[in-house]
Amino acid sequence: MELAVVTGASSGIGAESVRRLVELGYTVVAGARRLERVQALAADLAPGRVEAVALDVTDPASVSALAAHVGGRPLHVLVNNAGLSRGLGKIEDAPEAHWREMFETNVFGLYRVTQALLPALRRACGVPRATPRGDVEGHAHIVNIGSIAGFETYVGGGGYAASKHAVRAISQTLRLELHGEPIRITEINAGLVETEFSVVRFDGDVEKAKKPYAGIDPLVAADIADLVHFAVSRPAHVNIDEIVVKPVRQARVALVARR
Ligand code: NAP
Repeated sequence: MELAVVTGASSGIGAESVRRLVELGYTVVAGARRLERVQALAADLAPGRVEAVALDVTDPASVSALAAHVGGRPLHVLVNNAGLSRGLGKIEDAPEAHWREMFETNVFGLYRVTQALLPALRRACGVPRATPRGDVEGHAHIVNIGSIAGFETYVGGGGYAASKHAVRAISQTLRLELHGEPIRITEINAGLVETEFSVVRFDGDVEKAKKPYAGIDPLVAADIADLVHFAVSRPAHVNIDEIVVKPVRQARVALVARR
């Protein structure tokens, strides 16, 4: 059975991506800091198909432990999903701790996990795969969860947008550096998705967290997991470079048509 890794699998887009990858036949190593949540997700799916691991992408030792858990197995899919935003402070007064946490998680975490798992991804390239369309060449796939904040900025979103612009730069650089190897790089960039994202941004204030999604029929995590499913299930010669997806009522980060 082929192996996938999903970071940030305890909630939202990550948890739904685990479900979709299991549907596609993968065994999924699912990591997050809230291990009990990932274990509950594993228990909800077919036995043995999800390996729940404690993972803090900001901690190099934790990322090394993830790589050790994968061990000598070939890794076919890595979904770099772990990420967060903190606050809506303007550059003139946003706490440095918020910026550091966003960069440590969204940028350094993604870089660290990718670096640690590249040997396992390369191992998958040497494993011929027979797919329903007759592909046999071995290949691997990195899916980075970016954001439309990687294309635009907004007032109070300087730190988050800077981190997601960096994710975009990393995806594009990986595509150059891995050129010639059968490793696909896909970036999925979403607008407003109703997950725990805003609860984290507003430090647990659930009422405040509902506001960005009010009256706009936001995307849900399953909408993004569908795109992960689509990207990884293309024939071996097809690379979906990037996908931008928004609710119909959202034209730009901060331009939404509320009911
Ligand atoms: P979410 O429900 O808050 O999920 C975030 C996930 O990231 C959680 O599983 C969390 O797990 C994990 N995470 C955070 N810090 C981590 C760390 N240090 N180590 C390991 N895991 C960590 O939010 P979401 O919307 O699904 O977010 C997933 C990704 O989508 C993020 O990269 C986000 O930037 C991106 N995104 C979200 C939206 C949106 O509107 N929701 C739009 C565009 C892009 P633990 O807390 O248990 O560690």
